[in-house]
Amino acid sequence: MSFDTIATPTVEVAPHREPVFAHEEQSNAALARLDEYVKTYGCRPNLLVIMFDDVGWGDFGCYGGGIAVGAPTPNIDRLARDGLLLTSCYSEPSCSPSRASLLTGRLPMRHGLLRPPMYGERGGLEGEITLSQLLSEAGYTTQAVGKWHMGENQASQPQRVGFDDFYGFLSVSDMYSEWRDPAFFPEVVYSEARTEWIENQPFNRCFVHGTKGGELEDVEEVTIPVLSTLDDKWAAYSVDFIRRMSDASQPWFLYHCTRGAHFDNYPLERYLGASPAKHPYKDTLIELDDIVGRLVDALRESGQLEHTLVFVSSDNGPNLETWPDAAYTPFRCAKGSTWEGGVRVPGIFSWPGMIEAGGASDGLFAFTDLLPTALTLAGSDAVPADRFIDGVDQTSFLISPQALSHRKYQYYWLLNQFSALRVGEYKLMLASISDDDHDVHSQGGFEGVTQRYPYGRLYNLYLDPKETRSYLVRKLAYIDAFTSGIGKHLATFGAYPPKNAFAR
Ligand code: CA
Repeated sequence: MSFDTIATPTVEVAPHREPVFAHEEQSNAALARLDEYVKTYGCRPNLLVIMFDDVGWGDFGCYGGGIAVGAPTPNIDRLARDGLLLTSCYSEPSCSPSRASLLTGRLPMRHGLLRPPMYGERGGLEGEITLSQLLSEAGYTTQAVGKWHMGENQASQPQRVGFDDFYGFLSVSDMYSEWRDPAFFPEVVYSEARTEWIENQPFNRCFVHGTKGGELEDVEEVTIPVLSTLDDKWAAYSVDFIRRMSDASQPWFLYHCTRGAHFDNYPLERYLGASPAKHPYKDTLIELDDIVGRLVDALRESGQLEHTLVFVSSDNGPNLETWPDAAYTPFRCAKGSTWEGGVRVPGIFSWPGMIEAGGASDGLFAFTDLLPTALTLAGSDAVPADRFIDGVDQTSFLISPQALSHRKYQYYWLLNQFSALRVGEYKLMLASISDDDHDVHSQGGFEGVTQRYPYGRLYNLYLDPKETRSYLVRKLAYIDAFTSGIGKHLATFGAYPPKNAFAR
């Protein structure tokens, strides 16, 4: 019988692991190729993650945006053509939950960062086991550059959770700039008392540098002119790292997180007006695309392109509350919501020689999947056993030509509320943020009221990607596929209770 996403059952991996589609032949073929790679080159592959901020599914040319929306992205498009383009790659609804899920292989309900910590608020990655730590233990050099936003407290800082070196800022772009710009905060800019009050809040206004286990040192205060140079400076730092590592005997993990294109955007001077749209958000996209080009060129020129798995994505859907300083999505709603517009993000994987060029798949890939996948590539079997791991190993999905995803279920959580489940092309929505005109000023996902649907709403994402027409009453045959998937998922929180990083 041929494989089907709804009709095929999953198999259990371990009590603390998300069940998977087995795809045994593809998995074995992938592991054999990986062994062959390691034998041929005598090394494990490097991992480069390029994470954009608030960039939309529809911003890149390879996803239907690019020149059509006033900002061509030739470097990103080329990377996608040379690799694998995923159309169902999922983040969480906002920055910190997504980033922590990527680095822990766990959903926000488990790592506890249900929402971003702001202005020095407590709460962070503290107590989690991270991909950086595990790869470091597997012999990788680990480097984080750019935006962190997983806690400012010492135990949550990058150089304390497995990174050998960190060069970037601890929070998020707007926190450094919004209260300095009279266009947005005249009542602060023109008031000495309020400016001083903000400056006394417990967040670091500088971007910083630190090395493993040490203290962070301030590099420079992030004023608006400094902010406009950050992505350029951070790209140069990562390019230096890539070049330096070409002589090293150990593999590396570079986690490069851009400042752009989170609101508010102040592009580097040479990019002002560089986009056909002539808008700061679009000019920033041109800069970000150039940065992808620079990083890939550094890999190529240093002979490491064939030895590096590159993953390009964005940490959540576009933020439509800051329109027009915002991205584009063809889906419903935006950042902050569990509608597709909030969590369906670009997902491009490239590894010439190992990932077949020109591949595309609508198979499910969740941010949590990176951790177990990267560990397999690293030859490590250290997936944590003392806690629940939501990520599934997607090695064969990435490196076996025409392979299938091992993930059956995409779980959508809105803070601590279970919101929806996707299986195959269907999504059952139980609760979400309302985005209709009565409740919100814009289409932004953070704004609306929470709605619960007594019977749920079933959407066919192929026929109705904008999630407008519930199909439930015509498709009751699928109900058990959904209720059993939801029931088993929620039951895991019995043996592995949820965590809230803000409650400590
Ligand atoms: Ca974000």
